[in-house]
Amino acid sequence: MKRQTAQRRAIVQVFKQQDRLLAISEILDYGSRIVPSLNQATVYRNLKQLLEAGWLKQINYPSLGTRYERAHKIHHHHFHCKACNRVMDLPGCALKQEQIVPDGFVVQSHDVFLSGLCDRCAGR
Ligand SMILES: [Zn+2]
Ligand SMILES: [Zn+2]
Repeated sequence: MKRQTAQRRAIVQVFKQQDRLLAISEILDYGSRIVPSLNQATVYRNLKQLLEAGWLKQINYPSLGTRYERAHKIHHHHFHCKACNRVMDLPGCALKQEQIVPDGFVVQSHDVFLSGLCDRCAGR
């Protein structure tokens, strides 16, 4: 039971450190640097608990599979780097959602996903 708590803490720490959309493999990779005993099964179990507790949110982009991020973040968009495969948060929102739907439509939410190369991979 004590070990489970340490594993959960490690996963929470990974999300706080990385602060972006993470795949299971990334959570396992970063988490096992904190708690070496972490494995795929324990990551899945703890992610499930964090989802149920409302601390995490699951996001599915068809091209990327399932990724996770902290719930209750301020509205933001995502950028996928095709070279390093990281998904970063883009702060803010410049989308005028009322302007891109026909009259009479009511927009309740939107999700923007951009892809390309991050600054590191673009070599700047
Ligand atoms: Zn990159
Ligand atoms: Zn937006």
